[in-house]
Amino acid sequence: ASLWQDVPQGPPDAILGIAQAFRACEDPKKVNVCVGAYRTSEGNPWVLPSVRKAEGIMLENNEIKEYLPIEGDAAFVEKALQFAYGKNAPLDRIAGVQTLSGTGACRIGGAFLNAFLPGRTIYIPDPSWGNHKKIFEACGLTVQTYRYYERSQNGLDFEGMLEDIQTAPKGSIMLLHACAHNPTGCDPTPAQWQQIYQSILERDHVAFFDSAYQGFASGDSEQDAGALRAAVDAGLPVLLAQSFAKNFGLYGERCGTLSVVCGTAAQKDLVMSQLKCIIRPMYSSPPRHGSSIVKTVLSDEPLTEQYYEECASMANRIVDMRTKLVEKLHEVGSTHDWSHVTQQIGMFAFTGMSSDMCDQLTEEYSIFLTRDGRISIAGLNDNNLEYVAKAVHAVTD
Ligand code: PMP
Repeated sequence: ASLWQDVPQGPPDAILGIAQAFRACEDPKKVNVCVGAYRTSEGNPWVLPSVRKAEGIMLENNEIKEYLPIEGDAAFVEKALQFAYGKNAPLDRIAGVQTLSGTGACRIGGAFLNAFLPGRTIYIPDPSWGNHKKIFEACGLTVQTYRYYERSQNGLDFEGMLEDIQTAPKGSIMLLHACAHNPTGCDPTPAQWQQIYQSILERDHVAFFDSAYQGFASGDSEQDAGALRAAVDAGLPVLLAQSFAKNFGLYGERCGTLSVVCGTAAQKDLVMSQLKCIIRPMYSSPPRHGSSIVKTVLSDEPLTEQYYEECASMANRIVDMRTKLVEKLHEVGSTHDWSHVTQQIGMFAFTGMSSDMCDQLTEEYSIFLTRDGRISIAGLNDNNLEYVAKAVHAVTD
């Protein structure tokens, strides 16, 4: 008998498994609207020209390949935190470390919370990014959900959300999507955020923001940071998991930060020391290529301006495709109300289609999507839009 003979087959990842099925599909008409990655109007991945330029600068400067410190590149972290919290952010009391993109940031943040706020529950929205539950459970936290989305209305369940925040045990951790909620594309309004923050303050909860789409949602990174910055202004205890995967197109470079807003600079130093203790036995130190790119772009004003325009162009193409999808659905004869799709924000359209309808799209039309009815708008372009609209109409008619 061999040592591993009793190891059972692990379940495939819900999203990455679909990507695999897409690759294996031989139908020339196949469409991938599952992937959470930007595609050009030709359907191809895109390296931002500002990112390429930064890589050129790095090469010219003969950048070395030495280890980064445990906490990452301090100059990158400073630029990244200013990008998130704003130019006037109280960086003197924000502990921040470089992480392995947003996933790694959630994981380090979760480990920190589990170590220093033991026994508390983290509440994630229902629904949420599929990995949240797994990440925080792997950190040892108990994961529960708060109501977020009302499927019958295709909109935010604000009353339910507020009630669940108010009735959660005092001192709970509330995971909040900073903007462009994944998968629903549905965010609270600024006024609703204020009410959420009041409830969090009243209950001594902790706000853990997951920011994977800053700038990618509206095209304006300042606007997309509004909810996070308002939480800091309101005096909430804030943690932030920041990803540069989507907004800089740095998916595979695994570049992000985890930060903890502290009361004083002295607290910040203590928190930093503990974050390093968590990181060291996990992976010692983060990779340097992606963070060097972001640092190079954000340290050079003209390059930063160019970057903003390129990020906005991605956001604008997605907004444009959203409108066109709804127009096309009506054009091909759908009489359903699809207005929620145009109102949503970010990479995805949460269509309201049932899992049976999704299966039918995949089986009969080779359109690959997650079974919750989420369509990645980034996967749509002028060449496949009509095909997708017709198929969606056929399965929802
Ligand atoms: N949070 C949310 C809500 C996401 O959608 C994603 C990306 N799918 C992430 C975090 C993290 O992604 P990454 O680890 O690639 O930065």
